[in-house]
Amino acid sequence: MASRDGVIEAIGNTPLIKLKRASEQTGCTILGKAEFMNPGQSVKDRAALAIIRDAEAKGLLRPGGVIVEGTAGNTGIGIALVGNALGYRSVIVIPETQSQEKKDMLRLAGATLVEVPAVGYINPNNYVKVSGRLAAELAKTEPNGAIWANQFDNIANRQGHIETTGPEIWAQTEGQVDGFICAVGTGGTLAGTGIALKRFNPKITIGLADPMGAALHSFYTTGELKSEGSSITEGIGQGRITANLVDAPIDVSFQIPDSEAIPIVFDLLEHEGLCLGGSSGVNVAGAIRLARQLGPGHTIVTILCDYGTRYQSKLFNPEFLRSKGLPVPGWLERDAGVLK
Ligand code: PMP
Repeated sequence: MASRDGVIEAIGNTPLIKLKRASEQTGCTILGKAEFMNPGQSVKDRAALAIIRDAEAKGLLRPGGVIVEGTAGNTGIGIALVGNALGYRSVIVIPETQSQEKKDMLRLAGATLVEVPAVGYINPNNYVKVSGRLAAELAKTEPNGAIWANQFDNIANRQGHIETTGPEIWAQTEGQVDGFICAVGTGGTLAGTGIALKRFNPKITIGLADPMGAALHSFYTTGELKSEGSSITEGIGQGRITANLVDAPIDVSFQIPDSEAIPIVFDLLEHEGLCLGGSSGVNVAGAIRLARQLGPGHTIVTILCDYGTRYQSKLFNPEFLRSKGLPVPGWLERDAGVLK
């Protein structure tokens, strides 16, 4: 394909990038799927497009209609951009703790932003619950109707990964893939890609990389949803089994503290030129753990979820890092490093 017919066709078909240091450290080939190269700079463009196409196919979304979603930001950015390209408006409900850069991008993309306090899922004021209620209200008043994207429990999300991410990885590795691992927000990426890869070859190991504060590592190792600690990463860390996670073929699970994930993000930028968000650090840390478990000579694929500039005010801000007790890399403190 020499050109893409609009932004929709520019979603997906992202390259697989070999991560040099992670591969050298483990004797494995560790590959990152460069999802930050999507038009909205994150993996969530895929879910946004899959959910919108599914709603269109079911006749739920009419031209000029409104798409409502609760999101840590990236899904909202995907929905807003895809919506602009296809003629829909978007209303995005976001916890106020998410990075300013994501909120700014949502406004730039024309979304109506509703900021809510960051409270747990059982609280009726949780961003997911608020977005569901708002969609039901707008469906009654909007002339062209409104839908709730409902990324957590709408399995069109994981279906998108079954149809795109999984087959792309299989084709790009020419079937030479031994493991796939990533973190979970909705579970769409892990479950969808995992289901697709197992259909190609059931021997491929599917792993969960869970941040502190999430309950899934406990669930997949003991059967109980329990969490402890916290993480500065955004967009990941789930406390329940979403519809997208039901029957996800997860073979192994690792819990990844920020102290392990965040230095990897800094190293990838400093030594490999990859500018990534915190969840990518959890994923690459998980890939390294899985590589050590499988042993040298294996090929492991993970997800490079989103672009790092989205987190300049937090993850790449020395003051913020110090306030969280995390180490600050020397180069982040220098202003004109080359001249000093
Ligand atoms: N990383 C980031 C930065 C995200 O925004 C998300 C989605 N919330 C994920 C990872 C996890 O993807 P999924 O929802 O498919 O589990």
